[in-house]
Amino acid sequence: MNSAVHKLNIVLLGAPGSGKGTQADRLCEKLGLTHVATGDLFRENLRNETELGKLAKSYMDKGILVPDEVTIAMVKDRLMRPDIEGGVVFDGFPRNQTQAEALSAMLAEMGQQVNAVVYIRVADDEIVERLSGRLICRRCQASYHKKFNPPKVEGVCDVCGGELYQRADDNPETVRTRLETYKEQTAPLVEYYQKAGLLVEVAGEGTLDEVTERLLAAVDGKVAG
Ligand code: ADP
Ligand code: ZN
Repeated sequence: MNSAVHKLNIVLLGAPGSGKGTQADRLCEKLGLTHVATGDLFRENLRNETELGKLAKSYMDKGILVPDEVTIAMVKDRLMRPDIEGGVVFDGFPRNQTQAEALSAMLAEMGQQVNAVVYIRVADDEIVERLSGRLICRRCQASYHKKFNPPKVEGVCDVCGGELYQRADDNPETVRTRLETYKEQTAPLVEYYQKAGLLVEVAGEGTLDEVTERLLAAVDGKVAG
């Protein structure tokens, strides 16, 4: 049980396009944690044409949540892999209260807990602009922006040389639905985690480095304090 004390499990909350994925990668690198992103796991299943992928696609294309049982089972499965030993940054999960309760239960079973929840706050109009210019690496899922964070070579990932593409759900109509889904189902988690004493809020505007610094300070303050 004692070794569990040193593990760090962080949840990143924020609207689609708030920078969760990019910042999760950076936090993982700095803190030696593993990035678990449910959106990436669904897209991986989609690429591999698994049953789960086919099921998830119909929801993702509409911008609505994949059913909780399916999502929770997938996360449970992911947490069985040995690479999560040192702790996890959760990105895109939990997305509603049922998932939040399931996450607490899963971690408790492993003698662990959520140690900090960082809410990355970004204004609505900025979100829409960010999502409409977003590019993702097919190979390593690194995220870029046509204007704000372009790759060094057009269409090519700086990190791994993979091909960049625009996500099918980053079109204006689906973006609108995703934002509604977020406001209705996920945003209430801010208050939920605030009540649990786990929440810290950081401003998501500014350069990637500035936001990373804020996140590190927030996690530090929460875990130490
Ligand atoms: P974003 O945060 O930019 O909207 P994600 O990659 O996290 O993108 O998610 C894309 C889609 O995958 C969501 O719109 C939803 O359909 C599905 N999804 C991801 N995570 C979850 C989750 N925890 N519960 C249900 N559906 C999810
Ligand atoms: Zn890449």
